[in-house]
Amino acid sequence: MQRLYLKVRFLFNKNNTWDKANNNTKQYKQNNLNMALVNENFLKLQNSYLFADIAKKVNTFKVTHPKDKIIRLGIGDVTQPLPEAVRVAMHKAVDDMGNKDTFHGYAPDQGYSWLIDAIIKNDYASRGVTIDPSEVFVSDGAKCDTGNIGDILRQDNSIGVTDPVYPVYIDSNVMAGRTGSFADGKWTDVVYIPCTAENNFVPDLPNRRVDVLYLCYPNNPTGTTLTKDELKKWVDYALANDVVIMYDAAYEAYIQNPDIPHSIYEIKGAKKVAIEFRSYSKTAGFTGIRCAYTVVPKELNGFTLTEQQVSLNSLWNRRTATKFNGTSYITQRGAEAIYSPEGKEQVKATITYYMTNASIMRDSLIKCGFEVFGGENAPYIWLKTPNGLTSWQFFDKLLREAKIVGTPGVGFGPSGEGYFRLTAFGDRDETIEAMDRLRKL
Ligand code: PLP
Repeated sequence: MQRLYLKVRFLFNKNNTWDKANNNTKQYKQNNLNMALVNENFLKLQNSYLFADIAKKVNTFKVTHPKDKIIRLGIGDVTQPLPEAVRVAMHKAVDDMGNKDTFHGYAPDQGYSWLIDAIIKNDYASRGVTIDPSEVFVSDGAKCDTGNIGDILRQDNSIGVTDPVYPVYIDSNVMAGRTGSFADGKWTDVVYIPCTAENNFVPDLPNRRVDVLYLCYPNNPTGTTLTKDELKKWVDYALANDVVIMYDAAYEAYIQNPDIPHSIYEIKGAKKVAIEFRSYSKTAGFTGIRCAYTVVPKELNGFTLTEQQVSLNSLWNRRTATKFNGTSYITQRGAEAIYSPEGKEQVKATITYYMTNASIMRDSLIKCGFEVFGGENAPYIWLKTPNGLTSWQFFDKLLREAKIVGTPGVGFGPSGEGYFRLTAFGDRDETIEAMDRLRKL
């Protein structure tokens, strides 16, 4: 069936987009319109009003209530300092750079072997997953990797996302021309897979063909997770339908329940269908340092229109070698230190700090009568807005009456309407004060 689909796509070129683009270009040239043409897909992007609107509302509130102390629980950024082991390793790496014998120039495109070895040993072998060093690509962030991965895929692949969703998956595909047009809060060519309280945030298999599917677990924004069996359903679906899964595990370090998979490769067959993204940002406070990695298994293939298999690993390798010059030596030494015995202890302590915040928040919110999701294996709490308020109405109420800033769920996609995100990345005292304020409301 899939082969037939490819054939049909070859003959009719699905949306005819390539041909149209080429003909248009020729037309412009015939009309002597010799000028640099922009990628018009960028003009389709919906401005991300979400955080700009939040900032505007908060600033207005500050002007009208100058004495009020606002507590921000909307941020997706960490607040605790870098683990000591990381700082020590980075200081030493700076000294290495000041000595002719230990100086390092361009890093290897895929990353230093000592970091890749530490990743394989600690993040995969320890969970019974075999990864070859050539399958790991160290980078400067999971945002860049999840945004850039589309470079190696044809423009007319169909895209599926869980809804609500981390916006990078959508916007990067808009830029690539894969999403169609925007109408009624949705992109016409994107398959939205709702994740709401009604399905317990476990996405159902899509009823339309998707070629590329984005999954993020533990999930931003809902803070929910999938069990091994639930994830297996998706891996089996991808295996049966030649789907490529983009698996974003940026919050894997927050998993507390031993039954929840940390990697999609814990599921049999996943190396044939999935690319996995990991990040040190939330794991070890690297949001300002920038280091992440992506695993592209050698078994994973895409197809040409003539049905020839092509290794996605080799395409990503080529793309990386052409467009990226490696993550800095100092940064990679810092990342390596996370896997030292002291580094592991310190990372664990910081994650415990955030997860204690999450548990304080969950308990207080539940006591206040909120319907609360997430926050048990992720640093995000997703709550149902009370009394049928919209996400934005609840935002206004919380700001006005409790001086707390969160993120309206609808900003992450249509299925986020009626929900609200709070993060556990705040300072402990402020988190407790915020919960006190809510209790008093
Ligand atoms: N993926 C998800 C789901 C995220 O929430 C974030 C950051 O908020 C990222 C990736 C970005 O990670 P990085 O800081 O490594 O670019």
